[in-house]
Amino acid sequence: MRTAVVVGGGPGGLAVAGALARSGWQVTLLERADRIRPEPTAVVLWPNGVRALRSLDLGAGLDAIATPLPDGGVRRPDGHWLVQPRQTPVERLPVVVHREDLHDALIAGLGERVELRTGVTVRTVRAAPGERPAVGDGRHTYEADLIVAADGADSVIRRQLAPEATLVSSGCAAWRAVIPWYRAPRLPGPVGGEILGAGYRFVAASLGDRGASGGSSRGGIHWMATAAGAPRPEPPETQLALLRRWYAGWPAPVDELLAATDPADLVQQEIRELRPLPRAYGFPTGPGAVVLLGDAAHAMPPHLGQGTCLAFEDAATLAALLRESTLPDAVMAYDRVRRPRAAAVVRQTRRMSAVLRTRGRLALRARDAALGTITPRLLGSAAAMATQWRPPSASS
Ligand SMILES: Cc1cc2nc3c(=O)[nH]c(=O)nc-3n(C[C@H](O)[C@H](O)[C@H](O)COP(=O)(O)OP(=O)(O)OC[C@H]3O[C@@H](n4cnc5c(N)ncnc54)[C@H](O)[C@@H]3O)c2cc1C
Repeated sequence: MRTAVVVGGGPGGLAVAGALARSGWQVTLLERADRIRPEPTAVVLWPNGVRALRSLDLGAGLDAIATPLPDGGVRRPDGHWLVQPRQTPVERLPVVVHREDLHDALIAGLGERVELRTGVTVRTVRAAPGERPAVGDGRHTYEADLIVAADGADSVIRRQLAPEATLVSSGCAAWRAVIPWYRAPRLPGPVGGEILGAGYRFVAASLGDRGASGGSSRGGIHWMATAAGAPRPEPPETQLALLRRWYAGWPAPVDELLAATDPADLVQQEIRELRPLPRAYGFPTGPGAVVLLGDAAHAMPPHLGQGTCLAFEDAATLAALLRESTLPDAVMAYDRVRRPRAAAVVRQTRRMSAVLRTRGRLALRARDAALGTITPRLLGSAAAMATQWRPPSASS
């Protein structure tokens, strides 16, 4: 039986571990935290991410927890439309999912064949030609035919195998929260869309009512605010007060959502990205291989909401290629297919970053004028990039 060690119990690691196990691999999943638990926020999955999950046979689990996200357009802080909401066919709409629901669905997909080891921090990787690949935590060595590095943006495995890829700040910080259903304000009309200001951005999405069919079992409203600059060192209460000051006077429902947020709901994060991307995603070792997957391979700012989607694409692609070819061929094909794909998404994300970072009155006026033409084009090609992706030998 072929064996794999997956490092990292984030969405990418869980998706690929389950897929390999369902294809008959014996899988060990190593996670440094004591429990596999995501942060209490939500994630937007575009049609490519949804299609990848379907091709991994996780579509039914997803349908039970996903809420469609209608196109809410893009506004300025003064309420003027930069991009009007569009009527979008439902199959092109993204969905929003509570990360805890998503993790539950991915863990349910692991089945019996995955040995889960938590509290294991991988520190070393062995990927020398002719040797069986392995990772170690200083006490144990875990050998396998295939090692999947799904250990996130800070990946120790990538640092050793692709040191040219450096994790750098994207120059902004993000705050997110899910306001639980029992504290969520009752808002007129659907919650959605985004608002762009000088270096500031606010997006919101409804997770539906608690227990509603086809929605999050947790329900509530998710929002995300990004601001140019570094993360704030103050306690969450002060961060929330700062957010209310920065976003004062922005169109509804920004103030209602910030007012309904408890400091304990708040998750602050520095936005970071890999520059440049790794030169390789696959490292054959003779009898086996190591591959990079998810943020370990292509950490990027969340402006187009594609990080998790790409991690699922990686998992679906790797699983499909391994079903069809030998391990060395599959790893070479994975590298060939995934690097240009990730590079294309990163290029689009960087263009969006440039728009979002614009500050200063003149630049802002130019941005607002240009946004009317650039943003629809940018969002249009990002949407096309998301809807057109197909997994190899797609079953859906
Ligand atoms: C503010 C924000 C908003 C976002 N919104 C979206 C969105 O709407 N849509 C979208 O598609 N993406 C979004 N993303 C991106 C998304 O969160 C990431 O791309 C995604 O989590 C990557 O999954 P992963 O499994 O590759 O890595 P991670 O989620 O980082 O998981 C890595 C796992 O590996 C474990 N680990 C790390 N090091 C080790 C080690 N040495 N040994 C053992 N285990 C280890 C970690 O504990 C963790 O469990 C957003 C990101 C941010 C910051």
